[in-house]
Amino acid sequence: MKDLLRNIPPVHELQKHKTFYFLCKKYNLDETLLTSIIRQALDAVRNKVISGQQIEKDINSYIWDEIDQMVKRKCRPRLLSVINATGTILHTNLGRARLSREAIDRVVEVASNYSNLEFNIDSGKRGSRHDIVEDLIKEVTGAEAAMVVNNNAAAVFFILNAFGKGKEVIVSRGQLVEIGGSFRISSIMEESGAVLVEVGTTNKTHSKDYEEALSDETAMVLKVHTSNFKIVGFTQDVSTQQLVELKKFQENLIVYEDLGSGVLFDFTEEGIGEEPVVQKVLETGVDIVSFSGDKLLGGPQAGIIAGKKQYIDKLKKHQLARVLRVDKMSFAALEGTLQAYANNKAKDIPVVRDMLLTIEEVRERAMVFLDSATSLEMFHWELVEVDSMVGGGTMPEVKIPSIAIRVQADILSSQTLADELRKGTPSVVVRLQDQHVILDFRTITQGEIPKIVEAFRKIELTYRD
Ligand SMILES: *Cc1c(COP(=O)(O)O)cnc(C)c1O
Repeated sequence: MKDLLRNIPPVHELQKHKTFYFLCKKYNLDETLLTSIIRQALDAVRNKVISGQQIEKDINSYIWDEIDQMVKRKCRPRLLSVINATGTILHTNLGRARLSREAIDRVVEVASNYSNLEFNIDSGKRGSRHDIVEDLIKEVTGAEAAMVVNNNAAAVFFILNAFGKGKEVIVSRGQLVEIGGSFRISSIMEESGAVLVEVGTTNKTHSKDYEEALSDETAMVLKVHTSNFKIVGFTQDVSTQQLVELKKFQENLIVYEDLGSGVLFDFTEEGIGEEPVVQKVLETGVDIVSFSGDKLLGGPQAGIIAGKKQYIDKLKKHQLARVLRVDKMSFAALEGTLQAYANNKAKDIPVVRDMLLTIEEVRERAMVFLDSATSLEMFHWELVEVDSMVGGGTMPEVKIPSIAIRVQADILSSQTLADELRKGTPSVVVRLQDQHVILDFRTITQGEIPKIVEAFRKIELTYRD
């Protein structure tokens, strides 16, 4: 062991080695940084020797390999792009919506330059970031006014706090939902300081239930989109229209609807789901609505608040507006996304496009993949009909017919194959269905197809040896 330890070269010797300069160049590394990585690598090698582990090869090449690995780990970003082969369009774990080209271009432009984020170019005076997308939101929703906060969870909290704190907010028991594990309406309400008044039962709530719960303490009636579940059978809920009618019993009553996803494109016209467009909801006379930027809207993470000007003005002036404010890159992306709706180009938005892809279009993509993949002999490929999910806690009951390829490899279990695909570069995340690896081509773009073929090729090379 002592001999081995003595064989470990000192740092200054490695610094003179040609590989040192080679690595600096290859990874665009500063010499000081590489030196510190070398120190860490040498420590790791020493510890390995001391703990009695074998080093199979020549100690020098072993050390350089170790350094190379460490450099690679250090230079690799943590936030990586992955290929979503699950067919779930809004996969919350995979970053939800892919942005449109237009939205991406705006982000790059605004991020690379100074901008008029809070500057009025006409007057040369200080401007408000709220002005950036307000007109666009008004245009596409028909709202009197609008503003944007960090995400829809923030919007719900903000609205409850601003108008309901210390007062009563009435919610149907059928809408006291939990969304995505950590967002519970009842808990958010508690945090906001609003007092929850539950009415009705899990499956049935009537207009009369709300009416009877109204009191001098009531500030608001909240309707929550039960995004990720659906009660079927003997049910009854109260429409937004009916809730608005409650306003005649109480002056100043605010009717607020948390729409969850909220859609600006009418998917019902394409036979998908039953989500009303935001504009239709606002036409009922509801005071405030809020919805996500990165669900079916297909934009960046954001919470959009739209409705009557008197309320939105109050929110803009509230202290929390600053706490929940949105970054310029999100505004840029949101503007690029909303513009598509305003210009009747919603189909340029990847989420909308992927929702509307016909089964024939998906099949075409799968066939392009098969054309290149059949040369890989280790795998069996089979074209199958599947259902894609919308995901992101939206339209839980909606299944969109799609085409997938079911893959099998004789010498690999489906789980191992899925693991290998996931751990590759780029990472390919698949669906496991009935113990089979499934690639659903609804969420796979043309550009990603060669990368997936390559991922399988790498696995074949690894396991063929
Ligand atoms: C998704 C959702 C939220 C949270 O929205 P985020 O934009 O994810 O913060 C709130 N309410 C409902 C009903 C939702 O579906």
